[in-house]
Amino acid sequence: MQNSDKTKIWIGLDDTDTADYGCTTATFDNLLNSLSDLSGFQIIERRLVRLWPFAERRTRGNGALSCIIECSSKSISSFENLLSSFFSDLEDSLRIDGKIDSLTSPALIYSFEEINEDLYWEAVRQKVDVSDRIKKLSGINKMTLNSDWGLIGASAAMAWKPHEESTWELIAWRHPSNIGTKREISSSIVKEMEIKHPETFVNRDPTQEKGLIAPRTPCPVLYGIRGSTSQSVLSAHEWLQSNKDVEKCQRFAIHRTNQLSDDHIRGFSTSTVLTNPKETKGAHSSLEVTFRGGSKTLVAFKEGGDVNRLLRKLIPGDRINWLGLESPDGSIHLERLRVESSVPRVTGRPICCNNKTMRSAGVNQPLRCVSCQRQVDKHWLFEDINLNNLALTNGWVEPSPSQRRHLSRPLSLGEPIRI
Ligand SMILES: [Zn+2]
Repeated sequence: MQNSDKTKIWIGLDDTDTADYGCTTATFDNLLNSLSDLSGFQIIERRLVRLWPFAERRTRGNGALSCIIECSSKSISSFENLLSSFFSDLEDSLRIDGKIDSLTSPALIYSFEEINEDLYWEAVRQKVDVSDRIKKLSGINKMTLNSDWGLIGASAAMAWKPHEESTWELIAWRHPSNIGTKREISSSIVKEMEIKHPETFVNRDPTQEKGLIAPRTPCPVLYGIRGSTSQSVLSAHEWLQSNKDVEKCQRFAIHRTNQLSDDHIRGFSTSTVLTNPKETKGAHSSLEVTFRGGSKTLVAFKEGGDVNRLLRKLIPGDRINWLGLESPDGSIHLERLRVESSVPRVTGRPICCNNKTMRSAGVNQPLRCVSCQRQVDKHWLFEDINLNNLALTNGWVEPSPSQRRHLSRPLSLGEPIRI
């Protein structure tokens, strides 16, 4: 619904950061701040999306940004002028010795209409062909540098439609004079923040007593606080900034995000294990399972902790529930795993005197103890799969917080759904 003299505009930006400096979130904030300085402009909502983690041309975390703004119809030309001059300033800032840093492909697009949501779903679950994406964006205002790669993320961020379970992230940026120095925010303060603000999440990795809100790169971000409401991340931020031991930020903004949504996976599948686990390079493990009339390779990384530990306990015949992400080679990188039912594990023959195993005397012969000569019918001993020492949530295991992707929904926020 548009007010007659108000126009809604969707803006998307991606791929402006370089390996050494900059961050698309800060660049986008610069743009939106200069828009807010003009009269007649109102920011409706900022959005931050994380896309397919295996994309070749991805930036850190493969995030992209968008915003919905509203402006008076007579301000549209000043809007368009501002965007053009912003983009040419961006070009200048990326120029080193007369050449644009070839590792970035900035894209800035805007549209006066909502764009098709499919452009989001494609980019969060699979590889997107850039020429196909350009075709789908015909008629939409685009500015690009170097190549058109940035269009994929920028358009996906614009196409994303938040829903009730979407999360929020408040990003606070550093004073420019602090960039490159150590961030002043201890893990004990983050722990206290989490206790005082229970609607925020994935702030720490309790298994490593490590804070997760501050990046470890020289980028301008001071920290990002994730939570289930915009109010919760704002309160947590205000509490942090009121603490004298926490570095003061220069500015901050709240984004609606697809993080922790599981949008990149389609719910969990159920399979039967076909092979024993195989250890591959770097202590990763893999095995084959049934999948849609064929088979599939499931991979658990060493860093996956309990997911890796549970995968190694599996044997053929076990029924499992799993969630994961299909990698370009077709194997599934597991994100969560649960045993639905397990076959009995053979532990060996019965034991008799001196802890010695009873032996078979031959085909169709009973088992015999070599010390006391006692005989029993031939049989094996079995036990159930041992799930002790795994951190189970309704039977599920997941990697520790520092090893999870930003897209994955933590088990503490609810159980995965079956597809
Ligand atoms: Zn015996």
